[in-house]
Amino acid sequence: MAERMLQFVRLAQQNPDKRPATQRATDFAEIYARFTPPAAATQASRCSQCGVPFCSIHCPLGNNIPDWLKLTAEGRLREAYEVSSATNNFPEICGRICPQDRLCEGNCVIERDFNAVTIGAVERFLTDTAFAEGWVRPISPARPRPQSVGIIGAGPAGLAAADQLRRHGYQVHVYDRHDRVGGLLIYGIPGFKLEKPIVQRRHALLAAAGIIFHLETEIGPSLPFAALRARHDAVLIATGVYQARALEAPGHDLAGIVPALTYLTASNRVGLGDHVAAFADGSLDARGRDVVVIGGGDTAMDCVRTAIRQGAASVTCLYRRDRANMPGSLREVAHAEEEGVRFLWLSAPEAFLGTGRVSAVRARRMRLGLPDSSGRRAVEPIAGSDVTLPADLVIKALGFDPEDLPAAFDEPALTRNKWGTLAIDPRQFTTSLPGVFAAGDIVRGASLVVWAIRDGRDAAAAIHRHLAATSAATAIAAA
Ligand code: FAD
Ligand code: SF4
Ligand code: SF4
Repeated sequence: MAERMLQFVRLAQQNPDKRPATQRATDFAEIYARFTPPAAATQASRCSQCGVPFCSIHCPLGNNIPDWLKLTAEGRLREAYEVSSATNNFPEICGRICPQDRLCEGNCVIERDFNAVTIGAVERFLTDTAFAEGWVRPISPARPRPQSVGIIGAGPAGLAAADQLRRHGYQVHVYDRHDRVGGLLIYGIPGFKLEKPIVQRRHALLAAAGIIFHLETEIGPSLPFAALRARHDAVLIATGVYQARALEAPGHDLAGIVPALTYLTASNRVGLGDHVAAFADGSLDARGRDVVVIGGGDTAMDCVRTAIRQGAASVTCLYRRDRANMPGSLREVAHAEEEGVRFLWLSAPEAFLGTGRVSAVRARRMRLGLPDSSGRRAVEPIAGSDVTLPADLVIKALGFDPEDLPAAFDEPALTRNKWGTLAIDPRQFTTSLPGVFAAGDIVRGASLVVWAIRDGRDAAAAIHRHLAATSAATAIAAA
């Protein structure tokens, strides 16, 4: 099935089949089918093998995309998988949930005139094939090392770091306050974007490699941070950001107004088979309700699409800017619109109405003004433009801020920056505390899975350098 490359002039872009909106709106399964091997080879052959591959430059992991596309086109799938997994710990996850339209595919040189190579779908196909064929095996470190590393947080940053450090042979312990591994991969992102067995399969693989998971262990309340530091030769903080931004409009404290992550976590838990009291009693179930979601990011898109799947009577998304200026992926907006979500662009909540429980949202229309100091166009309310929407479930998806980790860890010497995230040396990933490193959203602020993986990998490399230097110094001192 060897294919010649540069076929973009002859072959149209073709993504894997997408299930019809009416069908997918009734379940939480992923919406795309998998490429067949011939389809993957054909689509990979569209790549023009650029000398300067902008796709790779704009992939946060610097994935060697043209090489694995060529190998895929030639049917050399095992080698393609090896190349793709050499720079990415979880390619099957990135292939599913990276906003490719803003990263690799959005910067593919053929995008403008011929539509991009379907990089994400090929990446996903390769790793799914590798799992199916048994090519993905647990790591077996060639040289076990006695030093141990404690990682706080089993999200993508912590897991990527754990994987890398175990490859170096360290004793790796991952602590998480949740009962399952994955961070936002398991309890934030819904199954229709990332089915949970994909995350659980990675957990099993990491555990089989000898990484020890301490679940339901919240550093601070269940295990003091100082005690954790005493246990390990190095510590990595990868705790993410979870403080939901507040909404100050009148009536914001009425019943039926809930934070996005509370809503999504409940839905994901129910999907995983857990009993969730607040879902069972209807508080976090959109069935039959008029739902209004406030926000324009990926989290808001996940909420609107979850509400559709739960059987909401209506789902409206309020966002104060327009479609072109929203932070979320436009692909996700298109999926949501197909599934029946109504978008009210240039609208922001003025007040929540109701007695005891929310029954409506009064929204004001906005217009875009001149760019502000950040370069984004400011929004200005249009006087007298209020509209009232019926709403008996309102979901706030306005973004996340970091919690006060120095307070939570009872460690005032842990330094934060002006945004409240942890201050690190960006080359060494070191915090203000000796032997303590940090990575992922807790450093960057709310970001992307692919950046969390990148940070986890870089932090692991820095920890390895630190521990190697420490053991060399100890050996010299002992000699
Ligand atoms: P997290 O994934 O947040 O993991 C941190 C972990 O640390 C959690 O498991 C938490 O329980 C644990 N933890 C926190 N404090 C403690 C403590 N004191 N003790 C022990 N454990 C602790 N990105 C994309 O690329 N594509 C998407 O489609 C996408 N969709 C998203 C949808 C939603 C709803 C949300 C909220 C985010 C989405 N993101 C998406 C962003 C992405 O999920 C994050 O950027 C990424 O998960 C950050 O990884 P992390 O490892 O830094 O943190
Ligand atoms: Fe594209 Fe993300 Fe894969 Fe990089 S990791 S090639 S950005 S899908
Ligand atoms: Fe291939 Fe597009 Fe990357 Fe060029 S930019 S190497 S065409 S995938």
